[in-house]
Amino acid sequence: MSLLVVGTVAFDAIETPFGKTDKIIGGAATYASLSASYFTKNINLVGVVGDDFPQAMIKEFNNHGIKTEGLQIKQGEKSFFWSGKYHTDMNTRDTLDTQLNVLASFDPIIPDSYQDCEFLMLGNLMPKIQMQVMQRMKKRPKLIVMDTMNFWMEIAMEDLMENIKMVDVLTVNDAEARQLTNEYSLVKAAKKILSWGPKYLVIKKGEHGALLFHNNQVFFAPALPLEEVFDPTGAGDTFAGGFIGYLAHARDISFDSMKRGIIYGSAMASFCVEKFGTERIIGLTQEEVEERVQEFIDLVQFDITLV
Ligand code: AMP
Repeated sequence: MSLLVVGTVAFDAIETPFGKTDKIIGGAATYASLSASYFTKNINLVGVVGDDFPQAMIKEFNNHGIKTEGLQIKQGEKSFFWSGKYHTDMNTRDTLDTQLNVLASFDPIIPDSYQDCEFLMLGNLMPKIQMQVMQRMKKRPKLIVMDTMNFWMEIAMEDLMENIKMVDVLTVNDAEARQLTNEYSLVKAAKKILSWGPKYLVIKKGEHGALLFHNNQVFFAPALPLEEVFDPTGAGDTFAGGFIGYLAHARDISFDSMKRGIIYGSAMASFCVEKFGTERIIGLTQEEVEERVQEFIDLVQFDITLV
């Protein structure tokens, strides 16, 4: 089934305890669409870049089966730029710089050929633009998943709240769930967020896995214990892309399917952190993905007889 992914397509400069990069390709929609491409082939990208964005990367999207008709290229303008520095625990980071550039005047146009998309991934982006995308879909998609971050909570909270009311699944990290609700307990935070509208909530906890909340139910997916975590940038978007990509493939949006979705999302995120930027999630084989998912199954499977 077809999937529309919107979000930033960007340049990032990253500093981790293991090294530093100059401008490399990043962006929420970049990670999410690449990740989803391992599960579903009908992916449509909406975003904006400047004329500094390499054609080779657009070709790479296309090689992954991602359609780029909705990726606007603004001549004479610069792509969105973000720079961040990770602390030694790799679970927390500081944003050093955010330059909106082309994003500041982005008018998301949804090509006619994208209009039949049944799955919509609203990747991290200005909440107003995420809203415009929802409004510009002629028919409401079957499932809308939205990701966001603290940056938008700080400068566009009202717009963000409007979006939250309209989406089916919200994905945030633990700190963002607390910031959104002023609740320290993630269970209380989840209850509050679910009362605002979304039927499902995913709280990402970095190396401590992810929680899926729905009504009074909760499901937990661990993160794979990895020997080397090189760069966590994009892990959240890669997770979201794997999650919605799997759901689009399965054509099933039940709670049970979402449980499998967060395992697939976690498996994809575990690849992402192994190298800088998008390096590890480009050109993976289907076997590598399957083996990684199997590692997750082995990690949590146990027989128990209650005494
Ligand atoms: P994640 O590590 O999953 O939170 O995602 C990191 C990616 O998000 C980077 O590649 C950035 O280009 C992108 N990003 C950073 N800040 C923002 C923002 N305020 N809005 C949208 N995308 C962002």
